[in-house]
Amino acid sequence: MIMHIDMDAFFASVEQQINPALKGKPVIVGARDNKYYTVVTAASYEAKAYGIDSGMPSREAFKICPHAEFVACDSAKYTYVSREIFGLLADFSPQVEHTTIDEFDIVLDGLEPLFGPFLDIGKRVKNRIQEAFGLACSIGIAPTWLLAKLGSKLSKPDGLVLVNETNLDAFIRGVPVEKICGIGPALTGHLHGLGILSCDQLKKTPQEILVDNFGRATGHWLWAALRTDENLTWQKSLPAGRQGQIEARKTPKSVGHSYTLPREISDQKIIFAWLRMLSEMVAERMRKYGLAGHTVSLWLSSKNESSLRQKTFQIPTNDGWEIFMRSKGIFSQKKAYFRTVRALGVSLSGLISDAAPPLLIEQKRRGDLIAAMDQINARYGDWTLSPAILGLVNPTSKDK
Ligand SMILES: [Mg+2]
Repeated sequence: MIMHIDMDAFFASVEQQINPALKGKPVIVGARDNKYYTVVTAASYEAKAYGIDSGMPSREAFKICPHAEFVACDSAKYTYVSREIFGLLADFSPQVEHTTIDEFDIVLDGLEPLFGPFLDIGKRVKNRIQEAFGLACSIGIAPTWLLAKLGSKLSKPDGLVLVNETNLDAFIRGVPVEKICGIGPALTGHLHGLGILSCDQLKKTPQEILVDNFGRATGHWLWAALRTDENLTWQKSLPAGRQGQIEARKTPKSVGHSYTLPREISDQKIIFAWLRMLSEMVAERMRKYGLAGHTVSLWLSSKNESSLRQKTFQIPTNDGWEIFMRSKGIFSQKKAYFRTVRALGVSLSGLISDAAPPLLIEQKRRGDLIAAMDQINARYGDWTLSPAILGLVNPTSKDK
């Protein structure tokens, strides 16, 4: 059995908890600190009551609710609270996982003798989180991750639900298919086209029909999504992107690339293009390993000087652009000594498994973009898609 814990209006609730003046009020957390030129990152339940929700332009949100309180997103705060909650959950079981910054999974098998029936464990978790942080969450408990996730979603806010073989059919009756995690707008449209609108309709659809219409992988996934008896293991029922983490191989100490230029180069545009190139190469390998790194090291060499400098950042990354920006920052501090560069290298250390959940919508979008790029490059060859600046250093040329 798996317990899925999803914090209710997490960012907004943390803000309300820290600043009691915000309690009971519609609160909008924005991605940037200009209240009219940002996107709603999170909304308190009082704001949601007006129809405000994450992803909405803040300008629109303030049109609907001019008296809403505005707070700029403070990722360090939420990451801190998220880690604290994780620590609290680790008291219950060593098998705890972060799904996103405000979602957690616990494998419940074996915990009953210690903490009692599953629903009691759920209540206890909710109480502990409420007492320690003053925050509400919604919990789904089910034999598969997908059903646990669906349970937590449908029981929001402040809910607790146990889904098992006995109540499954009643639980999913009339629930729109798009509530299932993984069924996006395209799949929803396709299912609707077949007359499958609700979860109970989906569960009654024969596997052959689904495979026929959606292909083998997706068809089977749709067929298994609402079943408890298909030996859907903990890993198998996780979204594809998370499987890599679980299978992550042994962790290397650092990942780096370096390059010797054909001659001393002083043109900063070219130097930065190479820096970007090396950053992308490092990032690509990091993602293959399922890792992210805290520390960026930049190695520079010219005819007069050679230096290695590193900097550690709070938020780990495996995004080529981010690694580039960080190494560029290090370069700028060294610029005076390096009017010309002959060789350079970028590496990442302080490596951790890439389990850090995306914090903001922008990060999630960027993550999706990078994943799509990796997929295209895996299929059509390295550098089929690459950042435009790399045109300056011609990444496809053989002599690099
Ligand atoms: Mg949540």
